[in-house]
Order: sequence, then structure tokens, then C-alpha cells
Amino acid sequence: MVNSFYYDGNQYIPKTQGDSTKGFILASIASSAIMGTLPICGKPFERQLSKEIPNNHLYKDAFLKSVETAGLDSKGVSIVPAQRLAVGVGADFIEGRNACYVPTTKQIIINTDKISIAGFHEVGHALNHQTGKIGKVLQKLRGPGYALAGLMGTIALFSRPKPKDAPRSGGDFIRDNCGKIAFLGWMPTVIEEAMASYKGVKVARKSGIAEPLIKNMKKLYAKALLTYAGRATATGLAVGAASMIMEKFTRPQRVEEDDGFYLFG
Ligand SMILES: [Zn+2]
Repeated sequence: MVNSFYYDGNQYIPKTQGDSTKGFILASIASSAIMGTLPICGKPFERQLSKEIPNNHLYKDAFLKSVETAGLDSKGVSIVPAQRLAVGVGADFIEGRNACYVPTTKQIIINTDKISIAGFHEVGHALNHQTGKIGKVLQKLRGPGYALAGLMGTIALFSRPKPKDAPRSGGDFIRDNCGKIAFLGWMPTVIEEAMASYKGVKVARKSGIAEPLIKNMKKLYAKALLTYAGRATATGLAVGAASMIMEKFTRPQRVEEDDGFYLFG
């Protein structure tokens, strides 16, 4: 066997370029299939959010006061009613399918005629940004976390030229654990989202929202968190699966003594 090599007394055959290509294709198919399940996680949230539109009046007045209630008016935080924005600025915001807090301008952008219930969560983001230490750090880690997760997706597709039992370097550690690291990259986001909801609910109570409505709000926020937790899990699994497939297709194969003679047969 011309291409085989010995490591630690065992004979190994490196995989071919063709194996690596097959692995790459299969790894890509597997990871996009896993990522393709993501909309499932978002559905419960979307469904409830659109159901809440007829209930908007129950939350609106308290929400419009909430920035003041949270003590954020003195920090320059404001609510921008998305329904008054020019068409084309962001259809999801104008039509009440999404809301956000923009740290650079300290604005909460939301359609206050449709989804005020979601606004308290954005006040929670503003609190994380303006008053919370941990919340602020986590907010800053969101971007780098996504980048890390994306990088792991690339690393998963690298080939594994070393035999299984060879000593591991730092690079190997990353390659071996890229799925877990990608999942961890999403954690600042998931935790910051959970904190924003927790603080938002507190502000809603303080703003005078009745307890049954708070309960309903908590349900919506739990579903929103499921969306983020789903993204974290799917990313971790997709990267992990791609890595496992690449390993199978590119790691040198150990030649077992018993069937060694087949190689020369
Ligand atoms: Zn959020």
C-alpha cells in the first residue's frame, strides 16, 4: 500500500480527495436539513403574537408609560411607533411582526397599535443596556458569539488528517468540539433575551398590568425564548453533525491486522 503510513505501531490509510468531497457534500446537506427545522421553533411565538393584536388596547397605555415607569426616560430612551415610519423602513416592524431596541439611538421601535404586549420585553433590553452590568456585557457579546458560531461551521468542514489516537493540539480540540462551541456562541443571546423578558415583566407589573394579562405575556415571552434556544440548539447540532461526517470521511483509517492482507490481495 503506497499511501499508508505508520503511527504508534499501527498502519493507517489516509482518505482520498474524493472521500473528502463526498464528506463535504453530505455534511452540507445534513447541516442545512437541521437548520431547515428552525421555523418550527418560531411558529408558536408568531402565532400568539398575531393573536394578541386584538388585545392591544389592554397593554397599550401601560406600555406607553413603561419607559418612564422603568426610569429610562431620564436616560434618553424613547418609543418610536413603527406604524408612523415610512413604508419600506422595515415591513416586519410596521406591520407588527417584530419589535426591537436600538442601543445606538436608545429607541424602542414597535407598532404600538398592534403589539404593545411585546414592548415590555424591549424595555427589558433597554434596561440591560442602560442599567445592567451583566446585561450590557452579554449584549456586547452577542455579535462576537454569532461570529464564533459561524466560524465553527467553517471549521467543522475542515478535514481531519490525524489518526484518531494522535495527541490533540488546541486546534484539534476546537475541531473536536466545534458543535458545542457553536452552541455556546449563542448563549450570550439566549441569556440576554431571558433577562430582557424577566425585567420587562417586572416593568409591566409596575406599570399596572393586571395579573392575568401578565400571565399571558409570560407565555408569549417563553415562546420568544424558545425561538432563540431553538437557534442555539439547531446551530450546535448542525455544526456537530457536519463535524462528525467530515471526521468519518477524512480521518485516516487504521488498518486492522486481521484483514491487512486484503490490502495486498
Ligand atoms: Zn429580545
